Amino acid sequence: MSITDNITRLKSEMDTVNVTLVAVSKTKPVEDLQIAYDAGQRIFGENQVQELMEKYDQLPKDIEWHLIGHLQTNKVKYIAPFIAMIQSVDSLKLLQEINKHALKHNRVIDCLLEVYIADEDTKFGLGFDEVIELLRSEEFAALKNIRIRGLMGIATNTASEKQVKEEFYELDSFFDGLSQAYFKHDDHFDTLSMGMSSDYKIAIEQGSTMVRLGSTIFGERVIKHWKNN
Ligand SMILES: *Cc1c(COP(=O)(O)O)cnc(C)c1O
Repeated sequence: MSITDNITRLKSEMDTVNVTLVAVSKTKPVEDLQIAYDAGQRIFGENQVQELMEKYDQLPKDIEWHLIGHLQTNKVKYIAPFIAMIQSVDSLKLLQEINKHALKHNRVIDCLLEVYIADEDTKFGLGFDEVIELLRSEEFAALKNIRIRGLMGIATNTASEKQVKEEFYELDSFFDGLSQAYFKHDDHFDTLSMGMSSDYKIAIEQGSTMVRLGSTIFGERVIKHWKNN
């Protein structure tokens, strides 16, 4: 199936269940993103700042860019002027840095807290108790130029559907609990980003409102630096 067909099919599939589609375009050339754009896709996810910047420069300006990979504090300044959402916030320190640069550009930047749900120790993210500690802190209360829109999680890369389902179920329950406890009067805490190509159907069954799909749209990734592809 072509990129165009994939976008068309997935957009309508997501529309019927009211789920937002993020096209994960890491390692793919700008030509492929342009094809997805021409098929109507406007939200793209990248995991590296430099790659995101170079693509941002070359592509239409109405694209909403989401950062989905680990972000170092010293790189926040590059994306602060235009980034639509940072899905991979995994510390208060990073959130403070985002706030600082958002303020400089007179913006409020949408963020998701990345929660660690996988049974693997290579993944970034906050534990459930760390999320609560962050939300309760005075430092967090002082941040006016970031807006927490919800949570992001990556399930274990396993063939066990049962395990993936349980991890997503837990994240969804935690999300609901937080909405009640900390965001009751905030309509903007509305995003639960979970589900990738291998597990997005399970994620949607478990309450996902945003899926991040790469290979399902663009085909398998070659593990090389994107510019050498
Ligand atoms: C690469 C990536 C995806 C997309 O992965 P696919 O399996 O290609 O759909 C989603 N989320 C994050 C955080 C990623 O790094």
